[in-house]
Amino acid sequence: MEKISRTKIVDLLKRRDFGAMVNVKGWVRTRRGSKQVNFIALNDGSTINNVQIVVDLANFDEEMLKQITTGACISVNGELTESIGSGQAAEIQAREIEVLGTCDNTYPLQKKGHTMEFLREIAHLRPRTNTFGAVFRIRHNMAIAIHKFFHERGFFYFHTPIITASDCEGAGQMFQVTTKNLYDLKKDENGAIIYEDDFFGKQASLTVSGQLEGELAATALGAIYTFGPTFRAENSNTPRHLAEFWMIEPEVAFNDITDNMDLAEDFIKYCVRWALDNCYDDVKFLNDMFDKGLIERLQGVLKEDFVRLPYTEGIKILEEAVAKGHKFEFPVYWGVDLASEHERYLVEDHFKRPVILTDYPKEIKAFYMKQNEDGKTVRAMDVLFPKIGEIIGGSEREADYDKLMTRIQELEIPMKDMWWYLDTRKFGSCPHSGFGLGFERLLLFVTGMTNIRDVIPFPRTPRNAEF
Ligand code: ATP
Ligand code: MN
Repeated sequence: MEKISRTKIVDLLKRRDFGAMVNVKGWVRTRRGSKQVNFIALNDGSTINNVQIVVDLANFDEEMLKQITTGACISVNGELTESIGSGQAAEIQAREIEVLGTCDNTYPLQKKGHTMEFLREIAHLRPRTNTFGAVFRIRHNMAIAIHKFFHERGFFYFHTPIITASDCEGAGQMFQVTTKNLYDLKKDENGAIIYEDDFFGKQASLTVSGQLEGELAATALGAIYTFGPTFRAENSNTPRHLAEFWMIEPEVAFNDITDNMDLAEDFIKYCVRWALDNCYDDVKFLNDMFDKGLIERLQGVLKEDFVRLPYTEGIKILEEAVAKGHKFEFPVYWGVDLASEHERYLVEDHFKRPVILTDYPKEIKAFYMKQNEDGKTVRAMDVLFPKIGEIIGGSEREADYDKLMTRIQELEIPMKDMWWYLDTRKFGSCPHSGFGLGFERLLLFVTGMTNIRDVIPFPRTPRNAEF
């Protein structure tokens, strides 16, 4: 075959220099036609759109043509021509075709219309579908948007460790990291496992959050963000929880909770705008295919200011709803940790736009959040979104050493490995704030997918770590 340098289909479909000789490579989506002419829809992953290859059967070897089946990988040289029937402006009149890889007839993506559940079982092949191609291109674009947003604002991308020895935050929901022989665990006289001879000389786990180390960086570099994998062994089999997910955690010196809310709102709006501006073909496909309200929802978020409401006011609204006959599965009272149904009621039924709920009871929030004067609440802020519930959790941090220490003692948090965190409050402490955005929760919103397992390539959930 003549050597012509390859054009990606995304670029090829924009070309208008009809008559040029081009080469494309990709996977066959469909093949149809008559005894004389066949039409191959070819996709190379660079765009949701296929290029149509027009094949005059008389010009090609019959044995080679037989190998061009759905899923096969081919390389095509041909003439770029103006298209009338393909739905695209350009198509290719094939001159030479090489089959790079034939496709066995057990290929599971022969027909359209597979269920999401089935596609999860073939997660190694589902990126070849239109839907997952769109989702994973959007996922990439959101990652770029996130780095751009922070970089443009002078934040530094800071890498916090994935293996950690502090268990103050996630006790009970952490995955252990060990090189110990599990068949022969040495225990002390109280039956506790001895970790002195383990790899790190103490018990270690996968991180549930980069925040504590992020605070160290914020009180040195001023404004940082992390963007990395996070692990939680919570046994919650919900459409919004993964055991391995990616989190973005900005942390900013001198920001109070209002600055923190402004940052969160700007940040999410920037990402949503980016999706509409840079991934329109993919978003439009998902809109038309699954969720006719998607684009409208994305545009809606950009138009409106998020509601900012103290938790106590939110509880009042929920209690009024209950009094008027609204049924929730879980009870509503001051002090309760809101369930997703409560969050979604506030957002979808009551305010009909995103809500930032602030000043939660200290009992249901982490020890490091700044304590309010009332002695009952802390300066927490959760951003609640339509269809999702919580998308961001954050707070102004407690900057006062004594108040922080008192809280740690009250909660009996094991701080033996946390001396370094407390040092920030001893050596030039400052007001600071931050939050964590679950990357996959953002993707749920932007793609309109309804299960978090469908916005990460290879989901890890209880009893599932295939691929
Ligand atoms: P939730 O109440 O929804 O379980 P959380 O309060 O445990 O979340 P945080 O500790 O505040 O969550 O974490 C910050 C963000 O990380 C959340 O707002 C959410 O977007 C995301 N997140 C938390 N847990 C998970 C998970 N298991 N899978 C995916 N994303 C998660
Ligand atoms: Mn939270």
